[in-house]
Amino acid sequence: MSTINNLPTFTKALAAFCLVLFIFLFLPESLSNYSEILRYLILLGIIVILMIYSQLLGSLTSSPAQAAEAADTDESTTYQTDLKTTDHLYGNLKKLVLSTVKAINPKFDSAIYMIDPEAGVFSLQASHTDDFLDSIPSNNSIISSMLKDTSTVYQKDDKDGWNELFDDKPWRGSECIIGSPISLHESIAGFVLTRIDHFSDMTDKDKSVLQTMGKFISHGLGSLESLEKHIMGDENKSRIIEILSELNFKSDESQVLDHFKYLIRTFFYYDRLTVSLKSEKDFNSIIKLVDGVIDEFVEGTEFPSHGTLHGLPIASEKVVLSQNWKESYENVARFNSNEAPTDFQSVLGVPIIANGESRGSLFIERITGQPYTTADEQNLTLIGRVMGASLNWLMEYEKIYQNATHDGLSKLLNHQTYKERFSEEIQRAKRFQHHMAVLIFDLDKFKRVNDTLGHPYGDYVIQTVAKIMSENVRTVDVVARYGGEEFAIILINTTPEMALVVSQRIVDNIADYPYSMNDETIQMTISGGMSLYPTHSENMKDLIELADKAMYDAKQVGGNQIKIHSNDDATIAPT
Ligand code: GH3
Ligand code: MG
Ligand code: MG
Repeated sequence: MSTINNLPTFTKALAAFCLVLFIFLFLPESLSNYSEILRYLILLGIIVILMIYSQLLGSLTSSPAQAAEAADTDESTTYQTDLKTTDHLYGNLKKLVLSTVKAINPKFDSAIYMIDPEAGVFSLQASHTDDFLDSIPSNNSIISSMLKDTSTVYQKDDKDGWNELFDDKPWRGSECIIGSPISLHESIAGFVLTRIDHFSDMTDKDKSVLQTMGKFISHGLGSLESLEKHIMGDENKSRIIEILSELNFKSDESQVLDHFKYLIRTFFYYDRLTVSLKSEKDFNSIIKLVDGVIDEFVEGTEFPSHGTLHGLPIASEKVVLSQNWKESYENVARFNSNEAPTDFQSVLGVPIIANGESRGSLFIERITGQPYTTADEQNLTLIGRVMGASLNWLMEYEKIYQNATHDGLSKLLNHQTYKERFSEEIQRAKRFQHHMAVLIFDLDKFKRVNDTLGHPYGDYVIQTVAKIMSENVRTVDVVARYGGEEFAIILINTTPEMALVVSQRIVDNIADYPYSMNDETIQMTISGGMSLYPTHSENMKDLIELADKAMYDAKQVGGNQIKIHSNDDATIAPT
């Protein structure tokens, strides 16, 4: 690369060198035979240098053209398309991880590194900022110990190691990093590195979430690889990649299964498709998706995993392939021993494998005896694997999503998510011309609980109050932990009268509840303030402020009650 960049300088130096030599060559016939030989040798040298130089120039000028030519060939185009779809998935995976980190805390910055064994470095794949270096030596001391023990947060004591990670950002005394390994074939393939400017910004919960980041990439890479390994048509492959790349926080299990339903519909002929997953209850499975012929075994039906045809791939990880299952599997029922006789004959059933174990079964059945082929078996097995990986992936996402959006203690939405939901709800209310009530609650004299009975008792009260709140609203309503012992509720599509009934019920239930832990029983009360959308304001900030002020008014008159904001004493002009 440096030769290419310095080409003009190199040319000038070479020209000067040649000139000197030519002058030397055309000096008058001087002295001995010895110098004659030297002269010819020098001439030969110049020719060789010029040849090398012209070759160098040739290769430099021809390489872009050659590359363009290569890109035009069919082979390379196919390669590029494949690369594009796989890249697309990998790109989404990286984006998802980076956006998750920001959802946990906007102050955190992460980078994804993957090993480049030839260069002996971890090379940067994606990052939030330019502070992360393009490559990190694979023997970097901090990274090496971090990959061995992911529970440690690295803060200091290895200046050189740190400088290899952030060249122009030397350790200042408060930052820390946390890593999460990415593995493939059970060995380390890379890691997600997160940098936190001040160690106190990271809670234990954040830490545990950050430590699992690498797992998603590992899952994703595993799925990609299993696609690459199996020979399936390109169309099938790109559809699977499409499904995987559409997975995100917002997908739920039924959406994922639906994607697979369309895939299976396209590639197999069946009269009925059934997807079942292991249920929470031991030894039972539950039907999650049915397509085609409807019988008594609809979505939601539970059945024993043992002793049933559909449970066989779940209990034993076996593939079921038969032209006439009643003959081949004499001693098993399709779903349960009391079932009505069925017309299905030819069946193909495969396990849904995730993390090396069977999580469910995927069955296609035909009313005729027309057999499924071994190619069908191979393809459905692959789909079962990818489905397993997707569901597993989704489960992991849900965990992360839950952690990033909910408060760990109360399990209610956290402050940040409350605000996001609030603005979404305002948009919705605008569109449908709904009314909403905004409630802010704060426990009365809560500090005393901590001071007299200890912090764990205080935590217990917060959890109990959170539960009472959730139980007293509808599922559409939004309940959040707004701060330490402050809560916020949005009652969706309600009237002021209904909102008052609900909030009074919350105040009463909190006051009536016998809080009891370690044989200490206490009473608690709460104060609340309410503002109304759009009556008092259409703006989130104002609505919160007005509700907060009303709550404060309730406290001023003794607490244990709810006050509605009144426009008469409004300090914020209605918009
Ligand atoms: P007031 O009636 O005026 O609301 O009095 P208060 O004592 O409730 O008011 P203040 O806001 O001063 O006290 C809130 C306390 O809540 C202070 C803080 O220690 C405690 N707190 C905040 N978060 C938590 C938590 O997660 N667990 C526990 N146990 N206590 C918390
Ligand atoms: Mg309080
Ligand atoms: Mg408070």
